[in-house]
Amino acid sequence: MAKAKIVKARLVANWTWNGVNEVCGICHVHLDGCPPEATAKFQTPGDDCPVVWGECKHAFHLTCITKWLGTQSDSQSCPMCRRRWEYSG
Ligand SMILES: [Zn+2]
Ligand SMILES: [Zn+2]
Repeated sequence: MAKAKIVKARLVANWTWNGVNEVCGICHVHLDGCPPEATAKFQTPGDDCPVVWGECKHAFHLTCITKWLGTQSDSQSCPMCRRRWEYSG
């Protein structure tokens, strides 16, 4: 049991990135990485993808939220909390 706890702690530590400890709510890839789709279409592997925050404080890859909002026919809402989506900042 003690060994398992140590492994888990290391995994958590690896998820911290510049104080941002989140994954994209759409593709579930860490915000420090790129969604596989963007890597294939627009980016060379290893490049950072733009990350955007909403007023609700949820963050997504720009490519992911753009694609998500494109599927919203009526109101544009955050895929995580369903609040109205507004770009922060
Ligand atoms: Zn994403
Ligand atoms: Zn949200």
